[in-house]
Amino acid sequence: MAKARTSRRRTGKADPETDEAVYQAILRAIMEGKLKAGTKLVENLLAQIFKVSRERIRKVLHRLGAERRLEMIPNRGARVPRPTLDDVRSVYEAHRVLEAGVLVQLIRVLDDKLLARLDAHLAEERAAANRGDRAASVRLSGAFHIHLVDALGNADLSRFLRDLLSRSSVMVSVYEPATQSICAVDEHGAIVDALRARDAARAIDVSRDHFLHVEGRLRLEKEASASEDLAAIFGRGNDRPSGAVRLHRKSPSRRGVRASLQQPKSG
Ligand SMILES: [Zn+2]
Repeated sequence: MAKARTSRRRTGKADPETDEAVYQAILRAIMEGKLKAGTKLVENLLAQIFKVSRERIRKVLHRLGAERRLEMIPNRGARVPRPTLDDVRSVYEAHRVLEAGVLVQLIRVLDDKLLARLDAHLAEERAAANRGDRAASVRLSGAFHIHLVDALGNADLSRFLRDLLSRSSVMVSVYEPATQSICAVDEHGAIVDALRARDAARAIDVSRDHFLHVEGRLRLEKEASASEDLAAIFGRGNDRPSGAVRLHRKSPSRRGVRASLQQPKSG
């Protein structure tokens, strides 16, 4: 697998497997909070680091931009979002309002099968939290809310929620202290308990409190553990699943990469 990719690294031929591996590596760095808010993702530096063409990097960055995990700035490229306090308030208010409506609708269609699926999901979340797997915890805690909305079978609502989650999960990754647990699994459990009791008022209450807690844990000044050194983040000490793109372990231009990174002045 790796060999086939190697021979096509510098060519323009379609190679979805490589694109996916680069996408996953960058997404993981964002979701694990390794990239400092506001960091510019410079195409040619990433192309050097991943040993792929700039076009390939551009495609991946646009995909992440479309998912709202990166900010695309016309003529200036992509950067890690640097949400303001207002952005955070707006996204979490939208989460609370949307989920309140979802829960009311959900009680009408709720059955044992759905409750069993939610219970299984809670078990998975608990396991990830217990083994301290932060990336899995962020992913699974978002997936919990996706399970709720998807059960309604309304494509528009599902799309709204996915959009909100993309933005809020980046906020969590960038701004939540790494020492804290992510979405408290017990709070998700309390939402499921209220659903099981067909108690809409309680479900809405616990859901609202849950989003308020998550929002309250964000610390907008937290950036100390994150970095803007792309070569350091992607070039070493990254445990990747087998099949991921082989990275440039000893980039001779690491110093240059660091020097040429520009942190936007505001934003
Ligand atoms: Zn949650």
